[in-house]
Amino acid sequence: MAQSQHATSSFHKPLPYLSPGQIKEICEAGETYISEQRSRFLGRGANLSRGQISRLSAFFRSDLLNSIRLFVLEDDRVPNPPFYPTLRAMGFASLPDFALMAAVTFKDVIVSYEACSEGVLFHELVHAEQYRQLGVGRFAELYIRGFLSGGGYDGIPLEVNAYSLGARFEDRREAHFSVEAEVSSWIRRRAF
Ligand SMILES: [Zn+2]
Repeated sequence: MAQSQHATSSFHKPLPYLSPGQIKEICEAGETYISEQRSRFLGRGANLSRGQISRLSAFFRSDLLNSIRLFVLEDDRVPNPPFYPTLRAMGFASLPDFALMAAVTFKDVIVSYEACSEGVLFHELVHAEQYRQLGVGRFAELYIRGFLSGGGYDGIPLEVNAYSLGARFEDRREAHFSVEAEVSSWIRRRAF
């Protein structure tokens, strides 16, 4: 997911404790949520345009670009995951609000509230590549563990990876690189 604007970070305070069983339950609920949202939007999405595919093919696998469905949700908002009230009650603040995001990716389906800029699209495609390599279950687990251990959206390693590769793309679009290789190197280094 990509933020519309940068949220103000909260003061550091001790993170609430969750047992391994509670974490496992939340990760499983996260996986179910992603799969449900993906099925909801899959059939309504459009392919990337030929122009987008040709500009982005210097960075992404062509099978990934061809598998992507883009959906602009204009009169509704993506609901927050069902475990948000539980996390809030435990003391987690600053849960990323899905209604305020520029776009959200559910595996190979990108949902946005207005046409994606190329920068937002690049960010979401990095998430699609992360999903491709990790699978939905592992992606959900690493995303949620990343949030819980840092207590915020900005510290989630899957986001740090997407923002840093996105910044590299925006800085010099002619300097091509492989997002597949970058993501697999983060996985190898256990950086997620
Ligand atoms: Zn993101």
